[in-house]
Amino acid sequence: MSEIWEGESSIFIHEERLLLDYIPTQLPHRGDQLELLASMFKPFLYSPGNASQKVILTGPIGTGKTVVAKYFGLKVEREGEERGIKIRYVHVNCHKDRTLFLVMRKTARELKLPVPPRGFSSQELIGITWNMLEDRDEYLLLTLDEADYLLKTNGSDALYVLSRISDEYVSTKQRISLILIMRDLTPLYLMDRSAKSSLLHNVIRFDPYTSKQIKDILCERVFEEKAMRVEAVDEVILDYIGELVGVDKQGPGDARMALEILWRAGKYAESKGKERVELNDVRKAFNDITFISPIESLDNLKLHEAILFLAIIKLLKRGEGRNYVTLGEVEEVYRLLCEELNERPRGHTKVWEYTQNLKNMGLITARLSGKGQRGKTTLVDIPAASLEVLEREVSKNILRRLKSFEGG
Ligand code: ADP
Ligand code: MG
Repeated sequence: MSEIWEGESSIFIHEERLLLDYIPTQLPHRGDQLELLASMFKPFLYSPGNASQKVILTGPIGTGKTVVAKYFGLKVEREGEERGIKIRYVHVNCHKDRTLFLVMRKTARELKLPVPPRGFSSQELIGITWNMLEDRDEYLLLTLDEADYLLKTNGSDALYVLSRISDEYVSTKQRISLILIMRDLTPLYLMDRSAKSSLLHNVIRFDPYTSKQIKDILCERVFEEKAMRVEAVDEVILDYIGELVGVDKQGPGDARMALEILWRAGKYAESKGKERVELNDVRKAFNDITFISPIESLDNLKLHEAILFLAIIKLLKRGEGRNYVTLGEVEEVYRLLCEELNERPRGHTKVWEYTQNLKNMGLITARLSGKGQRGKTTLVDIPAASLEVLEREVSKNILRRLKSFEGG
């Protein structure tokens, strides 16, 4: 029954599974990090109360730190339940709650602890929380996400308090363990030796995703989690997003960006009543997300760079769904365009140089072909725009310059 209702879209099935807060059932390429977490928190599960653990997750944006922590939190709560140990997982985002006091107030609320509105210091709140855990015989795994913000407002004081959270209670059972998520670890290196070693002892790193990894993450969402209809998304689409985002293709390696591109591209296709997501929908989505305006940079191009750019646009437009053209093809069209414009075409070396410039300006992507093509060729694409608009604007730009040439 629910399938029928959800089946209304030509593109999506469980659309919400592409959204940022959704916690998927699998986390491809984060097995190592999850295993490390599990091994670091093993004592916490087997003999809770004996030690307070502190683990730091670090890495750039969109590398899965938040989702891994939440996923792990769910697992730990469940595992505790099976063992008859009451473990509570609380996830606080320090971007929203920027002081230790706010963090602890939020934590207390999540634990359904009655908190008097004012008159307490953060230390006292920690004490109240601790006592409550003691009374209920519960253990808390607390994640401070985006803890960088906590450091910005509270300085390292907050960290000192947290790193010593358990020292005041040495004689009793340890009730609180911590996961800190931070982008930048430098502030930790400035702390005194004992705080530093207590915090930096367990650091788990998250690297930006490669194009292949991005593709796997998207595949999982589309095909396993059924976020979208199988027929609506060709693998080529997922490959393409992988190439736009993957760190090995000079992208940010950000899974959030990849999911957003896929979702938006799906929305564009859906709104036009299409049954399938097309490469152009992806281009448009990417463009909207990255906000690069190629049109604004046109005046910075040399004349022949602009002509070469126009050649690429024209070729991609008639590319029949291919997401690249080869540099060889581009050069041919470039020469034809030069003829039309009465310009002397530049040689291969120059063309190569222009291509690099266009790439450096972010107007095109250029990569070496892998398997499948004979020999190595350079594959060129324009990810960031509606090709129709671009073609019009670049043509205008070129003609304007040629006119002003003639005019003197
Ligand atoms: P970070 O906290 O490092 O900035 P997030 O954990 O918020 O990154 O991840 C960004 C988005 O990408 C989230 O929607 C998350 O669910 C998804 N994501 C990240 N890594 C993976 C993965 N390995 N598998 C599935 N989804 C992932
Ligand atoms: Mg995060």
